Amino acid sequence: MICPNCKIEYEKGYTQCSDCNIDLVERANLPQHVYRISQVGLSMLKFGIVLLFVSIFELMTVITLNDTYIIHRTYGGSPGGILSDINPILKILLAVQFIISVMVIIYGFFSKERN
Ligand SMILES: [Zn+2]
Repeated sequence: MICPNCKIEYEKGYTQCSDCNIDLVERANLPQHVYRISQVGLSMLKFGIVLLFVSIFELMTVITLNDTYIIHRTYGGSPGGILSDINPILKILLAVQFIISVMVIIYGFFSKERN
């Protein structure tokens, strides 16, 4: 006999777990707690990963555009990143997007269902 809650094994004759006060079950009847990621969770996980890749791509784009040397070398003109004026806002937006994508991935990963 085994407690389905705390998994402590009891000898035959016992019917209740002394810690949890719930009925013991046969070991064979113990439900297999197989956790699987739910369909919604899987969709969220995929969406989060795509969003994360988009964030990385955007970050690389912003870094490239913000690099004064690359801008100067590629387009000529005076040194100065073309995005330098809105850089703080971009940084915040990218940070927010990154946080959202990570949260979506975490949510998707942990939205599991018992089967
Ligand atoms: Zn118990």
